[in-house]
Formats: sequence, C-alpha cells, structure tokens
Amino acid sequence: MELSFFGSTTRDLAIDLGTANTLVYVPGEGVVVDEPSVVALEAIDGSQHILAVGSDAKLLLGKTTDNIQTYRPLTDGVISDLRIAEAMMKYFIDKARGPHSRMARAPEIVACVPSSSTSVERRAIRAAALNAGGRGIWLVEEPMAAAIGAGLPVTEPIGSMVVDIGGGTTEVGIISLRSLMYSTSARVGGDKIDDAIISYVRRKHGLIIGQATAERIKKEIGSARATSESDHILGSICGSDIATGRPSEISVSQAEIAEALQEPISYIVDIVLAALEHAQPEIAADVIDLGITMTGGGSLLRNIDRVLADETGLPVRVADKPLSCVALGAGRTLEDAEFREALCPA
Ligand code: ADP
Ligand code: MG
Repeated sequence: MELSFFGSTTRDLAIDLGTANTLVYVPGEGVVVDEPSVVALEAIDGSQHILAVGSDAKLLLGKTTDNIQTYRPLTDGVISDLRIAEAMMKYFIDKARGPHSRMARAPEIVACVPSSSTSVERRAIRAAALNAGGRGIWLVEEPMAAAIGAGLPVTEPIGSMVVDIGGGTTEVGIISLRSLMYSTSARVGGDKIDDAIISYVRRKHGLIIGQATAERIKKEIGSARATSESDHILGSICGSDIATGRPSEISVSQAEIAEALQEPISYIVDIVLAALEHAQPEIAADVIDLGITMTGGGSLLRNIDRVLADETGLPVRVADKPLSCVALGAGRTLEDAEFREALCPA
C-alpha cells in the first residue's frame, strides 16, 4: 500500500505523546524534541497563560504557588485534559518544525496511541493534533511503533514480542507480518513505581516525599529485585516528617526499595505471562527463540530484565535507546514505505 500524502516537500512528523515524555521525530533529522509532558500555567487577571512547557515546566512540578499550576495532560497513556494537551502538542510541533514553519504547508502527523485506547480517546488525539496545526493525522499503535523502533523483524512472518514500560502504562505486543497479533496494556508503569516508593517511605520511615524525589530514588538505586549488591544506600532523602510536619532527611537501601517495588513489578510480570498464554503456538515458538524485547523508560529499572527472564523462562533484552523506540518506530513509518501498513487513519 502506497500512501501518497507523505510528500517530501512538507515537514511531516511523528509524535510520541507519552504520559511522561513527548518526542517528535522529523524525517531525515531524527528525534528533534524530547521533553517531559508537562505544562505550567500562570493565572494573570483571572485568565490562564502558558508559563512553561516541557523541561522548564517539569522543574516547577510540586513547587507551585497560588498563581502557578503544573499539569501533566496525559494520564495512563491517554489525553486527560484536552485543552492543555493541545497547547502542549502545538508548542512541541512548532518547536520541531522550526522558525519557518508558518510559511510551509501544515504537516501530516503520525501519532502513537496505546493499543487499548478507546475510539473516544483516539478522537481526542486526532482533535489535539488538528487543533495543534496538523493537516491530517494517522495513528500507529504503540507496541507496533516500539517494535519497529527496536529493530524487530515486524515485516517478516516471525513472531516477536515487545514490552514497553512507560510512565502510565505497560504495553505488551506480539507482532508478525506487519500486524499486531495480540496486545494488552495495563495501567502500571513508572508512575505506579514512584507511588510505591512514596508509600513505602511514608510507612517505614514516617517521611512524606514528593513525586520528583521518588523518581530520583528509583533512578539512582531502584531495583526490581534485591541482589547481593543491594546493600547500596542512598542518603539525603528529604521530605516532611509525618509526626512533626517539619523537614527531615533519611537514607534508604536498595534492598528496601526493591521490597517496595514488588507489587507493581509482579503486576507487570503477570501481564507479560498472560500475553504469552495468548500467543498462537507457531508465534510462541518464535518468541521462545527470539525472546522478549523491552522498551520505554521503565525498562531501565535495574534488574527488571532479569526478573522478566526468570519469570518467563525466555531471553529478555532491553532495546538500544529504549526511551526513543516508539518515536523512532513511528518516524520510520514516514520514511520507509515498508512500514506504512502499520498505520491506521485516525
Ligand atoms: P511515556 O512513554 O509514558 O512517556 P517513557 O517511556 O518516556 O514513558 O518512560 C518514562 C518513565 O521511565 C518514567 O516513569 C521514568 O521515571 C522512567 N525512567 C526513566 N529512566 C529510568 C531509569 N533509569 N530507571 C527507572 N525508571 C526510569
Ligand atoms: Mg511511551
């Protein structure tokens, strides 16, 4: 199938609008925008104005005043606040298109959606893309984009399995011959892992910490399981003491954080096992040979690949550039006709 709309004269683009991060891919250039999906609004004379978007807005998360509020317009992989999502998308699209974009034809946009998103949720992303300046919009399901971006043999009659752990959701897909044979998505990902750290620190240490601190603990010492090296300690964790309300500081060990993460990690393992049970026998045989490929920021959690390998009995590898795979895969649908069948009209 040859889609004629992808002309080389327009600056068409692919966008991975994630719960945690938004990436924009421009054909021939690669990923040109990679920023947190956060918007800060400021109230001036009773109306709200955009104060910051992306990295600048993330710095303000949890530190807002009466006049300044920060928003993450996506929840669990889908748009939860259309007005703010549109403003954010417009900002990132304009940034990707560069200073002369006003002169050029509006772009065709390929956007990624969770495989489980409803038609209402897909309409929301279509509306956001069109209002953000897009001329037309095509959708690609995230597991498919992740698999293309991870370099899996999606166009061949070989079953391959991808597990994408993002901020809001974990997506599992089994792909063969350009089609998503099976997919499932669960509302567990980096945010739930951060929440598990927040509740553990509160319960065990009597300290209330914010989301940014929890994410820092996760990245610095988080582990999907305790290992012989898990006596690693992270100090200077600041929050407010639950009893006195005063600022306080504690240390936590990697083993403690691994214990805190058991619930979200076992939930992720369960959905991967369920997907394997649904695979057709021939496809399952390929997956046993090729193993599982992990993408998304959550795949960077220490030992998550080892836990999945032990629980499934299959080889597991983390893709190169796991945070960019979805955007790279969506971008390839713009550049390479071989992958365009992966697209569906929005
Ligand atoms: P989304 O597609 O939902 O925007 P991403 O694939 O961009 O999500 O992944 C973002 C998630 O990955 C966040 O929850 C972030 O905290 C997490 N993450 C990023 N780096 C690491 C790391 N080194 N260890 C654990 N989690 C990480
Ligand atoms: Mg994602």
